[in-house]
Amino acid sequence: MIILVLNSGSSSVKYRLFESEGEQCLAWGVVERIGASGALLKHNRIDGDGVKLGGDIADHSRAIEFILAILVSPNHGVIKDLSEIGAVGHRVVHGGEGFSGSVVIDEDVMKQLFECIELAPLHNPHNIKGINACRKLLKDVPQVAVFDTAFHTKMPEYAYVYGLPYTIYKRYAVRRYGFHGTSHRYVADRAAEMIGKPLEELNLVTCHLGNGCSAAAVCKGVSVDTTMGFTPAEGLLMGTRCGDIDPAALLYVMGREDLDINTANSMINKHSGLVGISGVSNDMREIEEEIARGNERAELALNVFCYRLRKYIGAYAAAMGGMDGIIFTGGIGENSSEVRKRSLEGLSFLGVELDEKLNMARTSEERFIDRGGLVRVMVIPTNEELVIARDTLELVSK
Ligand code: ADP
Repeated sequence: MIILVLNSGSSSVKYRLFESEGEQCLAWGVVERIGASGALLKHNRIDGDGVKLGGDIADHSRAIEFILAILVSPNHGVIKDLSEIGAVGHRVVHGGEGFSGSVVIDEDVMKQLFECIELAPLHNPHNIKGINACRKLLKDVPQVAVFDTAFHTKMPEYAYVYGLPYTIYKRYAVRRYGFHGTSHRYVADRAAEMIGKPLEELNLVTCHLGNGCSAAAVCKGVSVDTTMGFTPAEGLLMGTRCGDIDPAALLYVMGREDLDINTANSMINKHSGLVGISGVSNDMREIEEEIARGNERAELALNVFCYRLRKYIGAYAAAMGGMDGIIFTGGIGENSSEVRKRSLEGLSFLGVELDEKLNMARTSEERFIDRGGLVRVMVIPTNEELVIARDTLELVSK
């Protein structure tokens, strides 16, 4: 079956077209700058053909029309007719407490998705726009929603309840949800295959380190804790997000600087993290370049980043009563040997022994980077789109 996977963001739509037999990705690309001047479609085909097309792309519906048109175009397309698309899988950021797995989208699901908007006002509305556009353009083709939060819905209550008045949780569903679930799930599955044991026999700490960063404690296949919370701002230090802070510190700063809610929200989500501490960049490559030039604040930013991750790895080993593997994924996790090295320093008491040479190898390929001791350390490139395609196939084949 041909499956289209869509990730609709605020100003972009990313896509991948899969042939489910053999799990081959036939074409992939992105429409950027939706609604702005200079909107652009970047399209790649499995045979190496690549094209960039500018156009007037006012909204998500138009962006998806553009994508569908290039998929069937005589010059750059990979299918002859849109009727070849058997199903569409959508990444949806927040599924709230209601969605513990992927679902085929119907009117009831749409209603529930609208209810989740309140929990993720920056993400879910765009995911919904993508779904609506596909329902309009591809009429009877089944649509599936795959949620970033779903993998974490089995967390025990003591891991997801905040120390706020319980009535606040009950009234507003303010609790820890966690995100990046599709990625944590994918790398945990792959790690079990690499180690050669059933996932149900393993305790893994999965570290998704991209622009957003989160770690998860995957205990016998179940995410029992994760660093992101009610929103993606909690937990690890990230490119532009602060991660864990004392909530009273934020209230104090809001008072001293006379910040309104929007400005404070923007400070913790867009101007903090690596860029906030270093003052130079949210991009780990640039942080590492600045460190090489002797920039001390870039050095501090990297140290905060790695120390926080190390603390969580230790905490999750404790939460699971032991740890068999640590997995690094995402742009930073897959590529930065320095981050991996600094984050694992001093963890030999837990049985973590990094192999310097394997860690330094200039490749982002799936591999072990430990010395074969108690705790296996792995680099596994994530593939969230493949998980979405697999879930979509499974649900529509039922
Ligand atoms: P997103 O979360 O948007 O999918 P990515 O997973 O692509 O982001 O991760 C982006 C991050 O990965 C950036 O901080 C970038 O600097 C970092 N990164 C990519 N390549 C390297 C590299 N070779 N060395 C260090 N960091 C890298």
